Amino acid sequence: MWSIYTALVFALVAASRFTPVYVLEFCQSTDPDCHDDTASNSHRSPHTVKSRWNVSVSNLMQDLGQFRVSCKKLIAFPLDEVDGNFVHAVKNCIFSESTPTPLKGPLRLAAVSKDVIEGILDLDVAVTQSDDFLQYASGGRLMLGSVPLAHRYGGHQFGYWAGQLGDGRAHFLGQYSNRKGEIWELQVKGSGKTPYSRSGDGRAVIRSSVREFLCSEAMHFLGVPTSRAASLIVSEEPVLRDQFYNGNVKTERGAVVLRLAKSWFRIGSLEILAQSGEIDLLRKLLDFVINEHFPSISSSDPDKYLVFYSVVVNETAHLIAQWMSVGFAHGVCNTDNFSLLSITIDYGPFGFMESYNPNFVPNTSDDEGRYSIGAQASVGLFNLEKLLGALSPVLTQKQQKEAKVILKGYVGIYQMRFHQMFKEKLGLLGEEEEDSYIIAFLLKMMEDTQSDFTMTFRQLSEVSVLQLYNRSFTQMWALDNLSLHKHFSDWLKMYLLRVSRQENDTDLDHQNRMKNVNPRYVLRNWMAESAIRKAEMNDFSEVELLHNILSSPFVTQQTAEEAGYAARPPLWANRLKVSCSS
Ligand code: AMP
Ligand code: MG
Repeated sequence: MWSIYTALVFALVAASRFTPVYVLEFCQSTDPDCHDDTASNSHRSPHTVKSRWNVSVSNLMQDLGQFRVSCKKLIAFPLDEVDGNFVHAVKNCIFSESTPTPLKGPLRLAAVSKDVIEGILDLDVAVTQSDDFLQYASGGRLMLGSVPLAHRYGGHQFGYWAGQLGDGRAHFLGQYSNRKGEIWELQVKGSGKTPYSRSGDGRAVIRSSVREFLCSEAMHFLGVPTSRAASLIVSEEPVLRDQFYNGNVKTERGAVVLRLAKSWFRIGSLEILAQSGEIDLLRKLLDFVINEHFPSISSSDPDKYLVFYSVVVNETAHLIAQWMSVGFAHGVCNTDNFSLLSITIDYGPFGFMESYNPNFVPNTSDDEGRYSIGAQASVGLFNLEKLLGALSPVLTQKQQKEAKVILKGYVGIYQMRFHQMFKEKLGLLGEEEEDSYIIAFLLKMMEDTQSDFTMTFRQLSEVSVLQLYNRSFTQMWALDNLSLHKHFSDWLKMYLLRVSRQENDTDLDHQNRMKNVNPRYVLRNWMAESAIRKAEMNDFSEVELLHNILSSPFVTQQTAEEAGYAARPPLWANRLKVSCSS
């Protein structure tokens, strides 16, 4: 059997690619009220998430004409003084006014999230069947109170400062204050050119829009902090795309996702201001973000920016650990795609890892594997360094030093979160010395045997201790595959002994706990692909099926089983590729 030393090396490799582990001296635990409600959970809680469906939904608005948003707070920032919706270098502002360009019709509603429409937007889902909805939710008509804006941001892309980026194909429509007292920012994506479109056409095609719609909703129900999607509308507007950048340009069709987040500000939102020396505006934006989204931070606290930084460091570590715990690779972890609220945003060439492999890279354009799944934690560190760079102009020398200490704590926080989550995935209670070894040992065996990440953990949750002991799990394809590893018996012995020491823990409780954190269904690429092929022919049934199934990823469902969503992936799945083209 391997030595403890070897296992610890695996644990570190599995957790990230860091070397030093620093003690966090400054970070305070995050105030549960200071974030998105899902973001503030110490860990995913599917039951809390699912209970949304049970919220009483009486008195929902039936008339879209009553639906009102507000832009007051955001247009209070200085706006771009250059008038006109054309590409230009933008200075001294946070937003440019920019009107969406209506998609060429006829428009079709391809998908709608009842949970978002009713639970967040207070609208009766029946209104989504109207022509009015198609117009409002695609940017063709503006809701009451809407002043459409495109946000100016920059970012580090693939390690290098890329200058001005900004919302090149998304429009902010307004903030909606719902009856629960939450404020959500509405955006349409794929809604036409803005001053930030650079050489792009301002559009998004059906395939990438289906992926964003399905994945952001799926992530929410997995308990991972994320933007949400209200609807997906497809058009007949031709959009040219070279999907794999190989000269094979095809005509696809334009689509718009109506998406929501508590805030769309990113690390790049601050970076562009710091890089351009617009320090007053940087301070203004920071104060706004802190006042609106970090209520535990006092506006009169001289260390407010430092405390803000410590919360973002903490929550980013948590977010990436959550991604890892469900095998999610974002694909493009540039600073412009990293939210200040530490939620998952800007779904592009993401992927859920199938065979366990820390080098899994979902984006075929990422030749060097910069954003491989195993590199995400260290990329998070890189991005947080860039955030610190953007904050430096508003920090004193002493605060800058303290911020560096906070950043050093990131590795330890991430490893702690990762450890906690994987312990939960294995149903382990309390803390024992060999827990890291048990986790790392399992992951190493999974890597050696190319075992399916999702289903190995899920099937481990679905067997009783006796079944495991007797190895009676031949019907369980992922577990069966794992058991072929030459050290499987050693691991099993250790795991079963560890579990047997858990007092007052019944087999049933153990299994239920594990089933609540190990999904049976995730949005595998082949599942999305199959739904996309149909959606491109105006058959949205599979998008709807997937959306429904992924709303309860921890519950075994007949329709999902029939569709093979928990089965061994089909052979053609291996040939699929996703790129940045969208
Ligand atoms: P992404 O990789 O999707 O995060 O996009 C990076 C930047 O490119 C952002 O500023 C986007 O708004 C912009 N962008 C991506 N696709 C398009 C497009 N088709 N038209 C205009 N801008 C785009
Ligand atoms: Mg982006």
